[in-house]
Amino acid sequence: RAMKIGFIGLGNMGAPMAKNLARAGHEVIGYDMATVAVDGVWSARSASEAATDADIVVTMLPNGDILRAVAAEVIPAMKSGAVLLDCSTVDVESARAVAADAEAAGLLPLDAPVSGGIGGAAAGTLTFMVGGSEAAYKTALPLFDIMGQKAVHCGASGNGQAAKICNNMILGVTMIATCEAFALADKLGLDRQAMFDVVSTSSGYSWSMNAYCPAPGIGPQSPADNDYTPGFAAELMLKDLRLSQQAAEASDADTPLGQAATELYRTFVEDEDGKGRDFSAMLPRFEARKRG
Ligand code: NAD
Repeated sequence: RAMKIGFIGLGNMGAPMAKNLARAGHEVIGYDMATVAVDGVWSARSASEAATDADIVVTMLPNGDILRAVAAEVIPAMKSGAVLLDCSTVDVESARAVAADAEAAGLLPLDAPVSGGIGGAAAGTLTFMVGGSEAAYKTALPLFDIMGQKAVHCGASGNGQAAKICNNMILGVTMIATCEAFALADKLGLDRQAMFDVVSTSSGYSWSMNAYCPAPGIGPQSPADNDYTPGFAAELMLKDLRLSQQAAEASDADTPLGQAATELYRTFVEDEDGKGRDFSAMLPRFEARKRG
């Protein structure tokens, strides 16, 4: 069944996601505060106009404050029983606050952050981590099938964001561990290909080593082979690590490695040359340094 979909936030991720929904035959009405034209997507003049009469409103926005502001405008415009589907990566508290407001207005909220990046958004192969009610999840499932290849229902509102930041905290930590181990291996005179061949098939393996190897010319194609052009930019990794630490603080969880990874990416992005480079460019960073 074709649905009427409002889509707010047509940036690097939102534009290709909206395009895929339109191409699959849904009526998509988009809004972005910057003027953007997306193939097959109607343009609304405001977020509330895009939301009016929609069966589902999708948001793909930069952060929790912006999500809260957009939700305050959109929720009163939505029809009762419609789904408010936020795919942005935001703090757990904002996700839960927006969900509570939406529920109070008779809507079905979902937080469904994604992994897979711009390539996954364009190809329709994102993974969705979803928090919210079963009814809302079932309604949104056809959209997840179009925009992604996998959706995991993680429980109540906020749990999608919780899953996302826990995953990305592991990613940040394993990428740093992989990069510092390569830098150590170099100094020990161990060949990088040998290092990869051993670790990728031994207990040190991880996605960072096996699928996204930070050493150029080693392992599968990755941003390292393209002079560390993102990929997944270091500043986006920093954003997600900060969200993990905000959540850890709010829930009184002890995350020493998450904290250390956040501080390292902060230094890399803000004090060094990390901004605009892929997050795996931690390897040349470690290579250039001495024991601190
Ligand atoms: P982006 O900056 O390219 O897009 C955000 C869009 O939101 C912009 O076009 C901006 O104009 C629009 N916007 C901002 N405020 C608005 C408002 N008040 N009303 C309407 N539109 C507004 O960012 P992106 O890369 O598309 O990322 C979007 C979200 O997805 C972020 O939360 C990000 O963390 C997450 N994410 C990104 C990636 C990635 O690889 N880029 C991967 C996974 C998750």
